[in-house]
Amino acid sequence: MSTTHPRSYYAASRHPQVAYPALVGEVDTDVCVIGAGYTGLSTALHLLEHGFKVTVLEAAQVGFGASGRNGGQIVNSYSRDIDAIERQVGAEPARLLAAMAFEGGRIIRERVSKYGIQCDLKEGGVFAAFTAKQLRHLEAQQKLWARHGYTQLELLDAAAIRGVVATERYVGGAVDHGGGHIHPLNLALGEAAAIVSLGGVIHEHSPVLRIDRGSTQTPPIVHTPQGQVRARFVVVAGNAYLGGLLPELAAKSMPCGTQVIATEPLPEDLARSLLPQDYCVEDCNYLLDYFRLTADDQGRGRRLLYGGGVVYGARDPADIEAIIRPKMLQTFPQLRGVKIDYAWTGNFLLTLSRLPQMGRLGDHIYYSQGCSGHGVTFTHVAGKVLAEALRGQAERFDAFGALPHYPFPGGRLIRVPLTALGAWYYSLRDKLGV
Ligand SMILES: Cc1cc2nc3c(=O)[nH]c(=O)nc-3n(C[C@H](O)[C@H](O)[C@H](O)COP(=O)(O)OP(=O)(O)OC[C@H]3O[C@@H](n4cnc5c(N)ncnc54)[C@H](O)[C@@H]3O)c2cc1C
Repeated sequence: MSTTHPRSYYAASRHPQVAYPALVGEVDTDVCVIGAGYTGLSTALHLLEHGFKVTVLEAAQVGFGASGRNGGQIVNSYSRDIDAIERQVGAEPARLLAAMAFEGGRIIRERVSKYGIQCDLKEGGVFAAFTAKQLRHLEAQQKLWARHGYTQLELLDAAAIRGVVATERYVGGAVDHGGGHIHPLNLALGEAAAIVSLGGVIHEHSPVLRIDRGSTQTPPIVHTPQGQVRARFVVVAGNAYLGGLLPELAAKSMPCGTQVIATEPLPEDLARSLLPQDYCVEDCNYLLDYFRLTADDQGRGRRLLYGGGVVYGARDPADIEAIIRPKMLQTFPQLRGVKIDYAWTGNFLLTLSRLPQMGRLGDHIYYSQGCSGHGVTFTHVAGKVLAEALRGQAERFDAFGALPHYPFPGGRLIRVPLTALGAWYYSLRDKLGV
């Protein structure tokens, strides 16, 4: 497997990248973080801000995983509604979890401003409805979020949504004024630079091969091909790229692929006509499309970035453009004839409940994984909550612990087709509008 960023619009427009050396030899630290995506970077940064010694081990490069490839959409809340959480865990843990649903966007904006991270931050995100049922769901969501203190969701009727997205497909939607979008890889690289500025250490090309989990008396030891880290605590943040390092985590989650294309730079009047307010958009289908404009690409114009599709089990599709371009043209037929410059795939981690999993294995090993498609904001909260737990304040960490983690049914062989079948059922319901 390649261990450098895939060819994407993000890799082509990233800021000059610092190369962090691979780990060689033995190191002692307070916390060893495995994975330099947002979960790992956010955890490391919060810990460093509280005086911990931190070493981050990354198998490939900073932002190699989903954090450097995603749609860049700052989407509030979880991949599952807050009322579903209430039904699962009861009012009090749900109240804490609901409050955290709107915190990630604030953390990102704080990071960007505090550390001067240049990542093309733009405000505003749209949820677009194809059917009256989806619109009613957004109305209910607006009330639900308001009940939890979040009042930045504004409903759009059919005429209003045409003013923000130039397509006839939607019957309405909602704009989240607390949503927005970023250049995801440049955010990750900026967070890595902030970590180093606070004395943290990052090692790229340092895959963790084995963890000696330790005991109450002995600390855990993390092994890479050429070195090892002895730490008081280990935070596992490998998400969909972790593989089988910790079988307990693999059993209750499933890597899934999703694909993104980027057009050639568009004439400015065309770009502006597609998305006049420069909001990002995701639709309300179970298997959803997501799109937005990039920042200006070195004076050549802005590009449309369009994502969608889900490959259960995360095999890389042979022809990404063939999958995503028709989706883009269904939304924006006016882009027929426009060239696609980049096409890439990335993996996110699905859980059966579509809620993230945060927890502890034994005394020393903490983890967070499985945002199920919406992780740009949550991973930033997860880092803060994990850091709080390691500092001895576990109330919010325990609220996540109250969420049940289910294994995927069907064992290794048939869980992928079984889950794809379930998704097919939900997307059929979307198509039929039931
Ligand atoms: C194409 C795509 C589009 C998406 N769009 C959006 C979006 O618009 N909005 C949104 O909210 N969410 C989106 N998501 C989801 C979001 O990007 C993820 O939830 C989030 O980035 C996960 O961050 P992470 O740090 O947990 O994992 P990752 O970013 O995947 O990072 C994990 C890191 O761990 C490393 N690693 C794994 N195993 C080891 C090991 N053994 N040793 C050392 N390092 C290891 C990997 O190399 C990787 O760099 C999208 C995801 C994809 C794939």
